[in-house]
Amino acid sequence: MSSLAHFINGASVGGGRTFENRNPATNAVVSTVAEADASVVDQAVQAARKALKGPWGKMTDAERAAIMRKVAEGITRRFDEFVKAEILDTGKPIRDVSHLDIPRGAANFTAFADQMLAHPTEAFRSPTPDGKGALNYSIRVPRGVIAVVCPWNLPLLLMTWKVAPAMASGNTVVVKPSEETPTTATLLGQVMNEAGVPPGVYNVVHGFGPDSAGAHLVNHPGVDGITFTGETRTGTAIMKSAAEGVRPVSLELGGKNASIVFADCDLDVAIEASTRSTFLNCGQVCLGTERIYVQRPIFDQFVNRLKAAAEIQRHGDPFEKTTTLGPLISQEHRRKVLSYYERARSSGATLITGGGVPDMPGAFAEGAWVQPTIWTGLPESHPVLREEIFGPCCHVAPFDTEEEAIALANDTPYGLAGSVFTRDLSRAHRVAAQIEVGILWLNSWFLRDLRTAFGGAKQSGIGREGGVHGLEFYSELRNVCVKL
Ligand code: NAD
Repeated sequence: MSSLAHFINGASVGGGRTFENRNPATNAVVSTVAEADASVVDQAVQAARKALKGPWGKMTDAERAAIMRKVAEGITRRFDEFVKAEILDTGKPIRDVSHLDIPRGAANFTAFADQMLAHPTEAFRSPTPDGKGALNYSIRVPRGVIAVVCPWNLPLLLMTWKVAPAMASGNTVVVKPSEETPTTATLLGQVMNEAGVPPGVYNVVHGFGPDSAGAHLVNHPGVDGITFTGETRTGTAIMKSAAEGVRPVSLELGGKNASIVFADCDLDVAIEASTRSTFLNCGQVCLGTERIYVQRPIFDQFVNRLKAAAEIQRHGDPFEKTTTLGPLISQEHRRKVLSYYERARSSGATLITGGGVPDMPGAFAEGAWVQPTIWTGLPESHPVLREEIFGPCCHVAPFDTEEEAIALANDTPYGLAGSVFTRDLSRAHRVAAQIEVGILWLNSWFLRDLRTAFGGAKQSGIGREGGVHGLEFYSELRNVCVKL
C-alpha cells in the first residue's frame, strides 16, 4: 500500500488528513491519499497564478506544443505504470485500459498541441469617415488558471482531454481528480516534470467534493474558469459557484442515452455497437446506451441476440486479457445500481438476463461486481427509463413508426448522445437531425475524432470542447482595432 500526495508547483505535497483509495475488484486498500483543505488548494491556485507569469506565459505556441508532445511521449514510456495504476483504481479490464484509457490519454496531448497551432483568427477592414479605414484583427489569449474537476469513469482520458487543450492555449491548471481514482493524475505530475513543464503549470489536489478539495477549488477567487465532467447535480452546484466572480464554465454532464434500431439495419452492426454501448466499462460511460428502441419486426431477434452477447461477457481478474467486464467503481455505486435492479424487479419488468450479482472467486468475492442486465416491459415513466443508472444494463422497447421512435428518444431531460441504426440513407440523416443531443452516431457508437465538437444538449452540459471549439472556453478572443 502506498501513500499519494498532492502535486503542487512541481513537487509532492503531503500532510494533513488522508482517505483510503480502494480497488473495486477486491475492495482492498490501494493507497492512502492526502485530502486537501482550503489552504492546500490555495497553495495550488497561487502556484498556478505565478506560473502564468513565468516561462510558460512567455513561450510561443510552438514551444508549448513541443513540450506537450514530450508529455505524450512520457505517458507512452511509462505505459505499464499508467495501466497498472488505472486498473487498481477502477477495476476495469486490461484490454480496455491498454487500448482506450492510456493511449487516448497520451493522444490528447499530441492532438491538442497540433490543433492549437493551426487555429485561425478573424480580421475585418472597416470604412471610416476620413476614408482611411481601420483594420480589426483578433488575437487569442489564455484565460488564466483553469480548475479541472474530473469523474472516475475514464480518469486519465477525461482529465487529459481538458488539461491538454487548457495547457496548449497557454493556461495553467489545478486538477481535482475523483476521490475514487486519484493515481494517474498524480503520476502525470512526474511526467510533466520529466517533459520540462515549468513548475506550477500543472497542479493536482486530492479530496472529495462538498466541503473538501472540489468545493474549495471551484470557490477559489483565483480560478478564472472551471471545466467539469460529472453528474448533472454536481454541475448545477459548480455553476452556482462559478457565478461568483462571473467565471465561465464548461460542463460535460450526465445522460440517459437512447439508441434507435430500425428493422432495415445491419443487425450485426447494431448488436456489436449496442453490446459495447451497454456493457463497455461495466456501463460506466457517459455516452453509453440505457434505452434501446427497436422496430417491432426485429424486436424479438434483437433482444435474443443482445442477451447472447451479454451472457458471453466475462467477469474476472482485471489484469487477465480474457476479462471483458470489470466491477463497478465502488460498493456505494453498486448499491445504487442494484437499487434500480430491484425497482425493475418489483415493478414487474421482464428480466431478459442478469439482474443480480455474480459469484466471484477468492479475493474478488469482496468486489463491486454486478451482472450485465437487460429488461423489457417497463413503462416509459419508470425510473429505470428516466434516470441515469450508470451500470451494465439497458431497457429494450419496441416501436412502430419513425416519428414514434424520435419522440421516445427525445423524451428525457438529458441530451448527451444517441445512435441510430438503419440502411436507409435518407432516413438516417432525417432522424439524426431530429435527435436532441450533442453527439449522434449513425450505425456506430463511440467513434471519436478529437477535431469534432463534443458536449451535451439540454441537462447534459454547457459548451462544446474538441477541435477548435474548446478555444471558446480556454481562451479569450481579444479584438484589436487599428485606425489606418
Ligand atoms: P460526480 O459529479 O459525483 O463527481 C465528479 C467530480 O466532482 C469528482 O471529482 C467530485 O469529487 C467532484 N465534486 C462533487 N461535488 C462537488 C462540488 N460540490 N464542488 C466541486 N466538486 C465536486 O460524478 P462521478 O460520479 O465522478 O462521474 C459520473 C458522472 O459523470 C455520470 O453522471 C456521467 O454521466 C458523468 N460523465 C459525463 C461525461 C460527459 O462527457 N458528459 C463524461 C464522463 C462522465
